[in-house]
This record gives sequence, C-alpha cells and structure tokens, in this order.
Amino acid sequence: MDTLDFRSDTVTWPTPAMREAMATATVGDDVYGEDPTVNELEVFAAELLGKEAGLFVSSGTQGNLIAALTHAQRGDEAILGEDAHIFCWEAGGLAVLGGITPRPLPTDPQGRMDLDQIRSAVRGDNPHWPRSRLILTENSSGGNHGAAIEPDYFAGIRQIAEEHGLRSHLDGARLFNATTALQIDPKTIAQHVDSVSICLSKGLCAPAGSVLVGDRDFIHQARRTRKLLGGGMRQAGILAAAGLIALQEMTQRLAADHTNAQRLAQGLAQIPGILINPEQVQTNMVFFSLADTVPILPQDLMAKLYDTYGIRLGSYGGQKFRAVTHYWIQPHHVEALLSALREILN
Ligand SMILES: *Cc1c(COP(=O)(O)O)cnc(C)c1O
Repeated sequence: MDTLDFRSDTVTWPTPAMREAMATATVGDDVYGEDPTVNELEVFAAELLGKEAGLFVSSGTQGNLIAALTHAQRGDEAILGEDAHIFCWEAGGLAVLGGITPRPLPTDPQGRMDLDQIRSAVRGDNPHWPRSRLILTENSSGGNHGAAIEPDYFAGIRQIAEEHGLRSHLDGARLFNATTALQIDPKTIAQHVDSVSICLSKGLCAPAGSVLVGDRDFIHQARRTRKLLGGGMRQAGILAAAGLIALQEMTQRLAADHTNAQRLAQGLAQIPGILINPEQVQTNMVFFSLADTVPILPQDLMAKLYDTYGIRLGSYGGQKFRAVTHYWIQPHHVEALLSALREILN
C-alpha cells in the first residue's frame, strides 16, 4: 500500500497471492450453483466453523441481513447489544428491509449483554407485542475496542435460545481476530449459535465478500434471501479465490497484527498528552485520546499526521482516535506513527 493507513482494516489491499489466484480462478455461474471456486470456499468456511453449509455473500452487512431475514419474519423481534454493528452501522436494515424490531440491550466493556437481562427481554405470547425470535451477538466486539469474547458467553446465549425457542446469529466479521487472541478453535464459539457470518475482507485482505454458515436447511433458505436482496452474483469465483486465501492463509497471521497493536499501545502510553489503557487492547484495535491539556486540535493533529508523515488515523469524535493494525502495517510503521506523534505533541 502507498500510505500508512491505520484508519481501519477495511482499507487493506488484496495480497499479491490473492491477485494471482483471482487472475487464474476457475469460474462458472454461481446463481446456477456452478462456480467451483465459490463452492470450494463455501465448503471450506463451513468446515472451518463446524457448520453444514456456507453461502458466499457480498459483504458483512449483507451476511447479517440475510441471516436475520432468514431466521425471523416481519413482526418478530431481535435482541442485540446497543453498540452492535448490526444495530448501529447497517442502515437499520433489520427494520427497513426485514420488518424486524431491534431490541437493544446495554453491554459491558467486553461487548456482552447481561444474560439475565436477555432472559427478561424475551416476551411472552401477547397480541400487543412483537414476537421474540432472534438473539444477535458479535465477536470481536468492534464497539468495545475489538474485545475478544470467550465461548462461555455464547454457551449462555445458546441456553437462553433453547429455553425459549429462539434462533441465534453471530456477527463474526472479525471472529478470527477474537479466536486468535483467545487461542481457541472458532468452532468452540460457532457451535453455540445457529449461524455465523465472517468477513473475508478487513484483516484477511480479500477485496470483498463474506461467508454466512449454518445448517443445510438454513443455508438453502438463505440462498433465496440472498437472491431477494439482489446478492446473487455470477462468476463470483474471481472474488472467492481471494476468499480462499483469506481463510487458508491469512487467518494464520493475525497474531502479528495483535502484537503490533500491543506495541503501538505500549508506545502511546509513554507519550505525554496521550491517554490510553493498553490493557484494553485485545486484538488489532487501539483506541486513545488526547488529554485536554494538549494545545493541538484533533483535526489539526490528523492533518499534520497526513500532510507531513503520510499517516492516516481514524477519528472517533472529540479527542478520541482509533488506530487499527493489519497485514499492510509492519512493526516499523508502528514506530513511524509513534515517532510522528512524539514530534507533533512535543
Ligand atoms: C465491518 C463489519 C460488518 C459489516 O461488514 P461490511 O462488509 O462492511 O458490510 C459487520 N459487523 C462488524 C462487527 C463489522 O466490523
């Protein structure tokens, strides 16, 4: 990449191996189920997560939307965290396109809802009320510093879902960051939910695409929902070829991004005027703030970083910033950001 871009892991370019695989991918019409590369990706993703079947979709948002519209009907209600990506950052698709009422609950600093609050949020059968139908979870939790949530939370969710006949879906856009940080097999989390969507882009560097996994019947229905939403693609093997590399190779190297995030957090903590709690950094996201005593305005800091050093950071309103590490960020790039901030704030 030609800039040092810490704004997000969504900015990642495909790797040279991906471009090569895309150029030579075997393709067919995937709406006919005839693209061998898409089929291989769907099987690979399903096996990786211990599910029966997979469905290649255009984005994480589409994967979550297809899952919700397949699990729930108009007039149903979905329980989810108030800072969940699905609730905050997906244009209200549950309500807009699904007629599904979101029921947001508070979350703790790890992004977990309280299990007792979930239990009390489940509604009885009353014609005044929407029908409780779905529990939506997220791991890692993007709204909570990329926190990695342990499997026992999902076991608790599963128990509630079983008690009340609800379905459950995991927004696993960065699930492999979470399981890398926890050093666990993704199946140990996926086993507790009916469906999971994972992003092939972001830290895994594919140019586009997500995979939704679940049991065979669910994925059969989800294929119809994908078509309904205009998400049926034709020679999508070009994209799936990069997705296969994402799942086969790129999941193996996420620990390096987490080490870089740790190094960045430790370095930031040494810079006067920067407020950060390095212990919050569990995966590839580093949130920090400028102290009120720092004379430079946040937007001026951003401008100076870019104009003078060619470095981009994410701005989170007020004095708050986010830096995300990924494949295209090397240890010396972390050093470059730290020394730029030292110079600017000196
Ligand atoms: C990025 C992201 C999504 C959506 O992915 P897009 O591909 O950008 O639509 C969903 N959930 C979480 C937690 C994400 O970080």
